[in-house]
Amino acid sequence: MAIDFTLTPEHLQLRQSARDFAHKVLAEVGPATRHLSSPEERWKATRPIYERAVAEGWLRQVLPVPAGGECQGMVDFALIAEEFTAVDVNVSLTLFAVMLGLTPLMTAGSPEQMREHFGRFLEPSGAPLAAFAFSEPGGSANYDAPPPAEGIRTTAVLDGGGEWVINGSKKWVSNAGGWDGTGPDLMAVVCRTSTEAPPDEALSVILVPGPVEGLTFDTSHDLIGHRAHQIPTITLRDVRVPQGNIIGGPGAGRQIVSGSFIPTAALVGVFAVAKMRAAFEFTLDFAKRERRAGAVPIIDHQAVGYALADAKSAMEAVRYLCWKACHALDTQSPAAAELALHAKIFGSETAVRVITDLMRVVGIESYSQENPLAEILQDALAYPMFDGGNLGVRRRQLHAILSDPAYDPSATYLGTAS
Ligand SMILES: Cc1cc2nc3c(=O)[nH]c(=O)nc-3n(C[C@H](O)[C@H](O)[C@H](O)COP(=O)(O)OP(=O)(O)OC[C@H]3O[C@@H](n4cnc5c(N)ncnc54)[C@H](O)[C@@H]3O)c2cc1C
Repeated sequence: MAIDFTLTPEHLQLRQSARDFAHKVLAEVGPATRHLSSPEERWKATRPIYERAVAEGWLRQVLPVPAGGECQGMVDFALIAEEFTAVDVNVSLTLFAVMLGLTPLMTAGSPEQMREHFGRFLEPSGAPLAAFAFSEPGGSANYDAPPPAEGIRTTAVLDGGGEWVINGSKKWVSNAGGWDGTGPDLMAVVCRTSTEAPPDEALSVILVPGPVEGLTFDTSHDLIGHRAHQIPTITLRDVRVPQGNIIGGPGAGRQIVSGSFIPTAALVGVFAVAKMRAAFEFTLDFAKRERRAGAVPIIDHQAVGYALADAKSAMEAVRYLCWKACHALDTQSPAAAELALHAKIFGSETAVRVITDLMRVVGIESYSQENPLAEILQDALAYPMFDGGNLGVRRRQLHAILSDPAYDPSATYLGTAS
């Protein structure tokens, strides 16, 4: 039997549909937002484009089949994510962050919770938003560190009337302000349901439906990339939700958080491929077209040709690593987490290096906003840092896997249990 990376006809069809949508609709995000000066204006200007994505079924396409969506697995997701992100990171991340916000519900919610909170996200209309409210001002790499560390500081306390009362502040959470500052349609809030218990018993995830009474929209951050995506700071003050909105019970939070951020690690690797691809395609075209006042197109210079060759090799390697990680997640391989972490760390850091190298190939023209490489780099700079920074979170996770006495280094390619 052969190892086979061949995409099926269904995969190819899905990829083509995603590519068509990206070029027809997502390509509008830049022109619709670049001239707007505030992050909130830019974010609001993406709403009609996000609505098109929902109306054309792309939210359903990224929600898994068992939950009622149409996504057959992570390999499908990777194909969509590459095509979308290559063209636009902003609405694409809004869409993917909805999937992330719904992940605790989909993976650990009860059938009743699914019935109550999930249905609106399957409707092909409107602009429904979900958010995974994990990160907080002051840091989140040590969210589960035991005392004297603070870890997650948002608290939820049961009052006498059967309601959770939530207080705290969240920063960096995609979609958390909603379209009008009253919060998204559904927010999975990571909080502390005990101030004394160890993290395994104290951290919890509670569903907060919007509009949220007690939510203050403090600010929308002006990022160096993802310029039309919403990254706010919000404050939750005495936000009340029913006792039944806790997912998996008090203390289930740590497992829900770590489980939710493993598939996303593989996806960040895919985002990295997408941005490398966008940079490579622009640079290849430039190198074939431009002589820079010389006698031949610059690709005829060996230095340029070799630099393009190195960029393509790196991109190919990262893509197959990501596909391998996605396949491992789909087949529940024991090495899936390790592969997803490699995809995230290696993919994100390779992308930043490769895009910078390609800027050197284009030369001084790459330093102008008139061509796309600067924006591509600014978007890609997020990848080593978001979804768990590579230093503070992702390498630590990989270190923990390698340090396990039962760790089997061959599990990643043999697929065996360690
Ligand atoms: C576009 C975008 C979208 C985002 N979407 C979301 C979202 O939807 N939901 C959400 O919750 N968050 C979101 N975030 C936030 C983000 O994913 C996390 O907050 C972030 O990855 C954690 O950052 P950090 O690892 O730098 O942690 P920090 O706690 O800020 O740590 C900062 C640095 O300190 C050092 N450090 C800290 N602790 C350690 C340690 N124990 N060991 C070694 N070094 C350490 C590391 O150098 C680390 O980089 C988003 C961010 C961006 C940019």
